[in-house]
Amino acid sequence: MTHHIELPPLPYAQDALAPVISAETMSFHYGKHHKAYVDNLNKLVAGTELADAPLEKVIAAVAGKADKVGIFNNAAQTWNHTFFWNSLKPGGGGAPSGAMATAIDASFGGLENFRKELSNAAMTQFGSGWAWLVAEQGKLRVAKTGNAETPLTSGATPILTIDVWEHAYYLDYQNRRADFVAAVIDKLLNWEFASANLARAG
Ligand code: FE
Repeated sequence: MTHHIELPPLPYAQDALAPVISAETMSFHYGKHHKAYVDNLNKLVAGTELADAPLEKVIAAVAGKADKVGIFNNAAQTWNHTFFWNSLKPGGGGAPSGAMATAIDASFGGLENFRKELSNAAMTQFGSGWAWLVAEQGKLRVAKTGNAETPLTSGATPILTIDVWEHAYYLDYQNRRADFVAAVIDKLLNWEFASANLARAG
């Protein structure tokens, strides 16, 4: 069977985010969970009219359709995870610069307020899901989504995300989601990736 949607390579080595995210967590999260979403998606669309569609088209085509929820979950999780890996980098965190810094100030009244809002969204997402920074109608806002849900289907432009499924942190932090979220925000967020997404959002 040909896989039309590939598991993208990680943008850094598996141990590059340690100690915030260990190589062991990455080996399961990327090597098992993300890979399984990609493999399942390819199986589910094989032989259908979506067999050759790019990932974003698959997500848009099945979003909100009760009989296509399996395809949606695996397609959105494939996209969300690739976006998450790119939202992080070794030696990240700190403060954004340029247009990104201006947008954070304009939309949140400063970086510390943004940090609190993102952290609050990550902490109050009950159960599995995602915390996001998104751009919509020229403004930035924080959002959270449950399970595989993604802001892509609501027309917002994702800027950054944090995976708050337990598989993202349990090996390293057990039940301490707050410690994981704080460390990711302060030490891993990739503001260059965020800036590129903001520039595309226009
Ligand atoms: Fe995950």
